[in-house]
Amino acid sequence: MSTAGTQRDLPQVLGPADAGYDDARAIWNAMFDRRPREIWRCRDAADVAAAIDRARAQDLVIGVRCGGHSMAGHSVPADGLMIDLTPMGDVRVDPQRRRAWVQGGALLRALDVASQAHGLATTAGNVSHTGVGGLTLGGGMGWLARQRGLACDNVVSFEVVTAEGQSVRASTDENPDLYWGLRGGGGNFGVVTEFEFELHRTGTRAVSVELDFPVPGAAPAVAAWRDLAATAPRAATYAALVTGGVVTLGFVWVGEPDAGREHARALAALGRPSAERLVELSYLELQSRDDTTRGHTFRSYVKGHYLDELSDAAIEAFLAHDSKVGASLQAYGGAIADVPDDATAFSHRATAFEYVAATRWSDPAEDEGRKALVREGAARVGVLASGVYVNTLSDDGLNGVQRAYPPAKLARLRALKDHWDPDNIFHLNPNIPPSRAPSPTT
Ligand code: FAD
Repeated sequence: MSTAGTQRDLPQVLGPADAGYDDARAIWNAMFDRRPREIWRCRDAADVAAAIDRARAQDLVIGVRCGGHSMAGHSVPADGLMIDLTPMGDVRVDPQRRRAWVQGGALLRALDVASQAHGLATTAGNVSHTGVGGLTLGGGMGWLARQRGLACDNVVSFEVVTAEGQSVRASTDENPDLYWGLRGGGGNFGVVTEFEFELHRTGTRAVSVELDFPVPGAAPAVAAWRDLAATAPRAATYAALVTGGVVTLGFVWVGEPDAGREHARALAALGRPSAERLVELSYLELQSRDDTTRGHTFRSYVKGHYLDELSDAAIEAFLAHDSKVGASLQAYGGAIADVPDDATAFSHRATAFEYVAATRWSDPAEDEGRKALVREGAARVGVLASGVYVNTLSDDGLNGVQRAYPPAKLARLRALKDHWDPDNIFHLNPNIPPSRAPSPTT
């Protein structure tokens, strides 16, 4: 296919026969090998509006792609039109005003690098090749969240192209209902072409502390870790991972390293580990520490839950995962819980820990077996859960959306959907079905 051209110089449009088509449709989870009919490589809001117009005219399903890390592969529509925001990856920082203007297709790495050049940062996720778009619209949990709130809590304004192709701004002053919904409601209400973030003087240093314990007999250590997490300073985010018969317990500290080292002494309460690591690193090193060099070659499956408390029964369930599964816990609290629950679409702010179980593999023959292992482990934790983070939903359908938002919020989100996207053209996402167009995919 060629460059589409009318009066305006329209964006490059890729079809299946074009060079670059396969790269443009490849996403983080290799399970999703979908072939859009057209990939519109958008450079600005006008391109996005033209792509929406085209999809509506041709009755093509729309997928919106930023970092391509959706657990469900939502950004690539089979035989539909993919709005590819990756050409819009720039970040502009004003260090005096402590603001960052982030284009809708930017990756976390771009935001962190531009901000840290001035000793500034805002909350972003733990893997630098994740997209700012999907992460922020679903909430955005990261190592700064207990100090500064979720990524969505730090958005001052959004520039949005609506289902009607109009450009609107959403902030406390303009379209405040939309502003409320975009902070946790996912990609349901339009295509965000720019995020304006508040930045903070975070410094550039971090500390990571990890203690390993063999799983048999580890429950008392996990219980002691849980008790410390409840009173930890906001600079510390307690995190745990169980995989391959070992549980790793510790925390990440963002701020003055000496204070982080001092706090690490508290972990003596966990007992004697089989191995321990205390690493001082830059904030940028921390933010890319969990990046995957083999990137988009793995197949992957994920289940998540929110836990209001980590009971002894939950600890037992956490430690019981198959060794091929990696199950993690990350502490919430602090500034996340300072925000009233009804202030944003994002929900479950009283969560104590976010739980995620995941596995990665290469051979398609393992698909069903691997998924079953994750489902079994997550089901044992799930009976004790209070909800779920919308950004960890995969094949959970409407039931997952109902666990992500309490009924009153879901009703408000549906009213918003009725207003901003009554035909549900943005439905490749954890979908809020509008009244008149039930969701075709959830
Ligand atoms: P995409 O697949 O590009 O987008 C996902 C969906 O978001 C799209 O289908 C669309 O509906 C919507 N969307 C994206 N951009 C826009 C936009 N500009 N306008 C409108 N809609 C848009 N989450 C955390 O909170 N913290 C973490 O530390 C974290 N780490 C992760 C690490 C990995 C390896 C992975 C795979 C996921 C992680 N997540 C994390 C979850 C992540 O936030 C979600 O998967 C998120 O949807 C990814 O966003 P994306 O832009 O990369 O994905």
